Amino acid sequence: MDNKTRFSIGYFLFILVIMSLIHSLFFQGARYKRVPYNEFRQLVKQGQVERVDLLADRLRGQLQAKDLTGRGKFFETAKVDDPGLIKMLDEAGVTYSGAFAPPWIVQFFTSWILPLGILISIYALVLRKMGPGQGVMAFGRSKAKIFAQTDVDVRFDDVAGVDEAKEELAEVVDFLRNPERYQRLGGKIPRGVLLVGPPGCGKTLMAKAVAGEAGVNFFSISGSEFVEMFVGLGAARVRDLFEQAMEKAPCIVFIDELDALGKSRGMGGITGGHDEREQTLNQLLVEMDGFDTRRGVIIMAATNRPEILDAALLRPGRFDRQVLVDRPDLIGRKHILKVHTKNLVLNPDVNIDRIGEMTPGLTGADLANLANEAALLAARNNKDAVGMAEFEEAFERLAAGLEKKSRVMTPEERRRVAYHELGHAIAAELVGTADPVQKVSIIPRGIGALGYTLQRPTEDRYLLSKSELEDRICVLLGGRASEVLVFEEVSTGAQNDLQRATDIATSMVTEYGMTDRFGPRALRSEPRPLFLSGNMRAPLGPDSISGDTQREVDQEVGKILDAANKRVAEILGRHRKDMDALAKRLLEQETISGDDLRSALGDAVRDSRVAASRSREI
Ligand code: ADP
Ligand code: ZN
Repeated sequence: MDNKTRFSIGYFLFILVIMSLIHSLFFQGARYKRVPYNEFRQLVKQGQVERVDLLADRLRGQLQAKDLTGRGKFFETAKVDDPGLIKMLDEAGVTYSGAFAPPWIVQFFTSWILPLGILISIYALVLRKMGPGQGVMAFGRSKAKIFAQTDVDVRFDDVAGVDEAKEELAEVVDFLRNPERYQRLGGKIPRGVLLVGPPGCGKTLMAKAVAGEAGVNFFSISGSEFVEMFVGLGAARVRDLFEQAMEKAPCIVFIDELDALGKSRGMGGITGGHDEREQTLNQLLVEMDGFDTRRGVIIMAATNRPEILDAALLRPGRFDRQVLVDRPDLIGRKHILKVHTKNLVLNPDVNIDRIGEMTPGLTGADLANLANEAALLAARNNKDAVGMAEFEEAFERLAAGLEKKSRVMTPEERRRVAYHELGHAIAAELVGTADPVQKVSIIPRGIGALGYTLQRPTEDRYLLSKSELEDRICVLLGGRASEVLVFEEVSTGAQNDLQRATDIATSMVTEYGMTDRFGPRALRSEPRPLFLSGNMRAPLGPDSISGDTQREVDQEVGKILDAANKRVAEILGRHRKDMDALAKRLLEQETISGDDLRSALGDAVRDSRVAASRSREI
């Protein structure tokens, strides 16, 4: 049975149940009180009954006086084989008569057509609410949930604190403004842009601003909406979305929560595959490959979990540009606060800088919320202007809800985090083959991660050499090494780093045959996450590790980790001065861009990369 039939049968059953419910509620003599037969006889004998209808299965009666029995005027009782009934009714002078069954057409009408009519009208009403072209009658016509906007009034100025993203998107705006000129000059035409960042940091706002700046139409739809609708609808919706976008070109098509739809296809394997999602994803890939870029349609999508996306989505010609829209740093927060207090009447005592300093870790949405809350408080207190007191109170209220998100660090903790992250970052720049750093940050990021170092891969990698893996281990151990160097003891902050470093080292020994001790032998058997792709891998075969071998594996892993640790500690020691200067800056600014990091490190970066590439050629 295919999905569609299964769906319509389910639907039919659902209607049937509802109708029987309505039927029994409204048409089964709700106004007749039921009485036992003996009571009925008593009522007749007492002369309280005025008339009785003798139906096929029951007797329906009407009392002389209303409410004599405390039960209302009408009653019914089940028919009993009582030969004395007629006689008794005669004696009591009750009017009685048999009843014709109502003609079948009337029965049919009252019990089926009427409820059906009611149902259909309710359904139609709901559909109208949902908008035209929506629902079962309109399979595949998905106009409703696609949100289309023609005059977008959001501009880049409304999005604050994400200047790098704006720079990267300026090109897209340029292209949309005049696609022809762009092509004549031979520019590479962008097709898909992926906005990556935590919720509430302005990804949607950014996409809208691109549309607004370029003066083009804006279509948006959420990835989860593609999937949660009826089976078979997702793919049709995608087709529809692109059809509409083509009609309205030039335009931006914005897909929010791309991960809901674009999860790696292998990943459904454990919880059971999700055909519908896969179909929809495939359709999206087909459409993205098929459409004509010259028309000026750009697909933008947002996700906060790029790592779980299907690799096919990130190939060239699809979402091959990734733009980071991250939590704002101190300066960013000040800008955002300015944007959101622009239309408020502020008391002169309001100090935006102070508020910015109070709110590390808060997103743009949180800050917008804060400003709004402060304004509401001022209104409630009948103030003429929003003052600092209101902002502080609003922040306290918000902070209760945000506690988990942005725990406030002590100055000592911040220093530690700054050095830890710089350890990763400097190692990444100086080990030779690691991906260059895009950004170092000590802005708290959810529970667990206190800061982070973001590396941007320069090329797609399918294979990694032994020395590249060793470099990666060095980068992972850099955080801990830096803490040892500066504070002379380690903290708990390095746990995840150590886990990942150990995983890589273990894979080198047991899976990739990268040690002299074991040579070209695969030793591991149980399925485990493959750190390169994130996908689950199939088992390799029977477990071939004995206790002794295991011990040797542990030794080899230890050797790799020790060597890497020594190397990175040595690198960091050599650059201790740079590190101190950078740490000072990081503590002030909360973030440092990769370019700033590289210029602070100077020639050392180039030298290390040159050395690494020379050794690769040999
Ligand atoms: P996302 O799509 O990343 O989840 P949104 O774009 O929906 O976030 O942001 C929600 C709201 O928060 C926006 O409408 C805006 O009012 C505010 N906001 C978020 N980020 C920013 C920012 N960088 N600058 C200004 N306002 C922002
Ligand atoms: Zn770390």
